[in-house]
Amino acid sequence: MAYEAELTAGLEAVRAAARVCRSVQQRLVTAETLEKKDKSPVTVADFASQAIVCQRLEAAFGGDPLVGEEGSAELREGGQVELRDAVVREVAGEVEGAPGAESVLDWIDRGAAEGSTARYWTLDPIDGTKGFLRGEQYAVALGLLEDGEVKVGILGCPNLPDGQGGTGALFAAVRGGGARLYSMWDGGDTGGAAIRVSDITDTKEARFCESVESGHSNQGEAAEIAKQLGITQEPFRIDSQCKYASVARGDASIYLRMPTRADYREKIWDHAGGMIVVEEAGGRVTDVNGNDLDFSHGRTLDENRGIVATCGPVHDRVIDVVRAVRGA
Ligand code: AMP
Ligand code: MG
Repeated sequence: MAYEAELTAGLEAVRAAARVCRSVQQRLVTAETLEKKDKSPVTVADFASQAIVCQRLEAAFGGDPLVGEEGSAELREGGQVELRDAVVREVAGEVEGAPGAESVLDWIDRGAAEGSTARYWTLDPIDGTKGFLRGEQYAVALGLLEDGEVKVGILGCPNLPDGQGGTGALFAAVRGGGARLYSMWDGGDTGGAAIRVSDITDTKEARFCESVESGHSNQGEAAEIAKQLGITQEPFRIDSQCKYASVARGDASIYLRMPTRADYREKIWDHAGGMIVVEEAGGRVTDVNGNDLDFSHGRTLDENRGIVATCGPVHDRVIDVVRAVRGA
């Protein structure tokens, strides 16, 4: 199979990062941090996750650049020794040879690429930081791009039900190879199970998902779109690229991400992994105008606005209504 080495390394990297994220969320997101709106748990996990994924990918594909959400500048400041040491401790649990602070900072900075080369990876070490801090959903999201096309995508979702009574679901897709659901925690099972989008063809039967955060997606507009599509089920609000995962395995059939500001540009790491998982599960992904996502502009989707992902057959109808409601 094409991209087998990339898939294997990516799954292992995302599993290692997810183990750290889960452990930090379970230990450090407490009633007290919630009360104080203290963001330090997610900051520690975010940096550690990026360091671990970069370390694994450097070992497997040393020459590949990576476009990551985080940089180490904050950790290199004099006053941040405590935070830096906490990150190094978390990383050390997943990397052999007791790495020092310099190595960890260098791994994080491997994520500073601009996305200007033919081939590069893009990573959101914790997508859905607000969900992470509420003790809810988040994702470790990784994508591989070549010549502006997403070729491989991996979504680690530590708090999503696995469909068999457990918690944690790992989704991956290779272009042309379908989308699969893997065990989030057990690296021994390598096969995964094929997943498929919902088979509805009438939007009246649809359940749609959107951000929990009203600042990330216009929920009023989405409600009007849902009404015009005849959707009667309540919106499924869930943080992070778990929305793409939900569409890919049929928990929902539409994902609406309606722009809240005219000047916001979607980040590539918020969509690369999720987009290919939905497409390879049989669905469609465009922006709110029905345009394909254009990954050829570096760190942001400059030419796109918002996102619409669906199970496929309903896509054109959804875009028509989205455009009518937006007055586009
Ligand atoms: P979600 O969990 O789907 O609400 O999305 C989380 C992501 O929203 C973060 O990773 C941010 O990159 C992104 N984000 C931040 N501000 C905005 C905005 N104004 N519109 C859309 N997305 C945003
Ligand atoms: Mg994100």
